[in-house]
Amino acid sequence: MSDTPETPRTNFIRQIIAADLASGRHDRIATRFPPEPNGYLHIGHAKSIVLNFGLAQDFRGTCNLRFDDTNPHKENVEFVDSIKADVRWLGYDWGDRLFFASDYFERLYGFAIELIEKGLAYVCDLSAEETRAYRGTLTEPGRDSPYRNRSIEENLSLFARMRAGEFPDGSRTLRARIDMASPNINLRDPVLYRIKHGVVHHQTGTAWCLYPTYDYTHPISDALEGITHSLCTLEFEDHRPLYDWCVDNVSVPCKPRQIEFSRLNLEYTVMSKRRLTELVAERHVSGWDDPRMPTIAGLRRRGYTPAAIRDFCERVGVTKSDNLVEMALLESAIRDDLDATAPRRMAVLHPLKVVISNYPPGRTESIEARNHPKDGARGVRSIPFGPEIYIDRSDFAEAPPKGFKRLVPGGEVRLRNAYVIRCEEVIKGADGKILEIRASADLETLGRDPQGRKVRGVIHWVSAGHALRAEVRLYDRLFRVPVPGAGGADFRNDINPDSLRVVTDAMLEPALGRAGTGDRFQFEREGYFVIDPDSTPGHPVFNLTVGLRDTWGKGLQ
Ligand code: ATP
Ligand code: MG
Repeated sequence: MSDTPETPRTNFIRQIIAADLASGRHDRIATRFPPEPNGYLHIGHAKSIVLNFGLAQDFRGTCNLRFDDTNPHKENVEFVDSIKADVRWLGYDWGDRLFFASDYFERLYGFAIELIEKGLAYVCDLSAEETRAYRGTLTEPGRDSPYRNRSIEENLSLFARMRAGEFPDGSRTLRARIDMASPNINLRDPVLYRIKHGVVHHQTGTAWCLYPTYDYTHPISDALEGITHSLCTLEFEDHRPLYDWCVDNVSVPCKPRQIEFSRLNLEYTVMSKRRLTELVAERHVSGWDDPRMPTIAGLRRRGYTPAAIRDFCERVGVTKSDNLVEMALLESAIRDDLDATAPRRMAVLHPLKVVISNYPPGRTESIEARNHPKDGARGVRSIPFGPEIYIDRSDFAEAPPKGFKRLVPGGEVRLRNAYVIRCEEVIKGADGKILEIRASADLETLGRDPQGRKVRGVIHWVSAGHALRAEVRLYDRLFRVPVPGAGGADFRNDINPDSLRVVTDAMLEPALGRAGTGDRFQFEREGYFVIDPDSTPGHPVFNLTVGLRDTWGKGLQ
């Protein structure tokens, strides 16, 4: 398979699936995306979503959305809803295949009884600490629990009483009876059920005080849904023998195959839900959808498109080797998308007034400008021009550095889409700060080169009499180092204190007044921007999505 846009890149999982279909081992494939609703989805989850839903699409199979909701302490409906919204926004549809592991609690309980009856599970009275001590280490085998050889009848009765709520939290567990001497610690009689009183589960309420573990729930849920290929991240490789043990020993209709791939790690951010939760709870960011967060909600608010995120996931690929992906890769995906799709507008972020002394006072003219330089089909808009304009402070220099191609005293510059102007005078305040520039325009240069001389620089501008004032939020990386909290240090110490700079008096061309929340633009010469939901009538707020060029190699801006 070649890497063309029409055919997605191949990878080892795609090859396994193609072979399983070719050999007749399966006649259709079924995958699932199994989030735990204990946080918002992040860009790492997007990799798993694009993989699972993408494979189902490409091979005409199905992909289920299943909430792995076995740990009610940390889960809630807000997270369930946000996850559904994010998967949909990314462009995927689970149809009528929305499931919760908690839908299977009754059946999972039945399978546990089946295991007990087969002599493959027992009720254990060791405390959590004792269980750990009995488990042994990587180099030493574990020891059998003193409760391992309870009779089937006693186990059945105790397990029923556990469910009935007769025993306090931590007093008893149900454990698989596998092998305490196994070199794989996951097989040393893993816990299948824990007692948890007093929690209200977001789906099952207070119906249960007994909760199955992830390692027990996951394989059986997969099997009950007829999943053919159960894709998970590499840290579950050592759990695969337990996955197989579960589906082999209970009466489920099929035996899914677990395949592991490496998780996505991205520079200059954190992806563990525990850390993301801390960033939100400790108010280092404004919420799960803060535009600096690596969450899908944050990226959406930052101006990322679903297409760019899917494209990024394709570019990252699927392998078994752990790696750290450069932020530049994510940014180039959104830059490529917005370069093709975002209308161009002019906005001055740090305004400096320029008075054009030979332009008739009170006159306004309308200048037509293309919405997209490469795509004429996107039409034109009209931009008002008048005797007073704003340019960006950084586009004027009294003592210009070598090679400076913008406005300087006595020098000329072209105003994009408009005239060539010359700086005649610099007006300063008592403190020496530049207040405004007096300039003259060559009124013959609208859409034409000036006669007999070359003007090298082009700058953007906004008519002062028509400008809309806006708030612009300029974001930088949330962390100062590529791997926050490396070596066990507190990741909070690596937070970049300058990750947000707010400009309150940016000046926009009036066409931007017609835009609504979520609309994306290129501010010419500045970058790509999106309208934030904090905007109110008369007070637009824009977020910087990404600059025009890759600046990641160049240190903090
Ligand atoms: P955390 O360990 O931070 O709590 P998680 O992996 O437990 O995250 P889940 O909600 O269980 O989060 O993940 C749902 C699915 O997304 C799983 O199949 C998981 O393997 C996958 N996933 C999570 N993080 C990544 C990542 N960084 N890269 C690729 N896949 C991921
Ligand atoms: Mg998980």
